[in-house]
Amino acid sequence: MQRRSDLPLSVRVRFLTGRVSLDFSHTGGEGESARWEIVHSPDELAHWLSVILSVDGLTAGPADLAAMRPLRTAITDAARSLAAGGSVRPSDIEVINAAAASPPLVPSLGVVGAGVGWASPTTPAALSTIARDAIDLFAGPLASRIRVCASETCGLLLVDTSRPGKRRWCSMQRCGNLAKVRGYRQRM
Ligand SMILES: [Zn+2]
Repeated sequence: MQRRSDLPLSVRVRFLTGRVSLDFSHTGGEGESARWEIVHSPDELAHWLSVILSVDGLTAGPADLAAMRPLRTAITDAARSLAAGGSVRPSDIEVINAAAASPPLVPSLGVVGAGVGWASPTTPAALSTIARDAIDLFAGPLASRIRVCASETCGLLLVDTSRPGKRRWCSMQRCGNLAKVRGYRQRM
């Protein structure tokens, strides 16, 4: 299985939100998000869900791809609306709740200290786990901490879990650093 840490930074920045639901939103979508699309086939769906959730042995079929799209769009629309100070459409809530109603991934303890394993993971279960994370995020205090990266050319989502609530960048390694460099140049 490919791990987040094995990905080049250009791709890894999509998966640094700290929330699997928002990481999942960064795999593409409709409209504005279509430029980010990396899920063109069931195999790619299984691959990226494996990376995001750290699951081994996922397989996906055409029905999973069809089920994924409305869920991803609902999570994306909800998160971006909240980041803009808006509310979540009832139709998006319905889609997320429906996906969460399926059984989620079941954690399993293998070797102590070696990370959580998953018992017989399936793609529908992975999508349920993603939907449940979205519910947890949107229903809790962090819903008001969802932001869009301050870089004009980025557009990735982030959850600001810092105590002062002043986080602006998707990642310091990329957008934060670029802004710092630009700041230095302007002062020179
Ligand atoms: Zn950024």
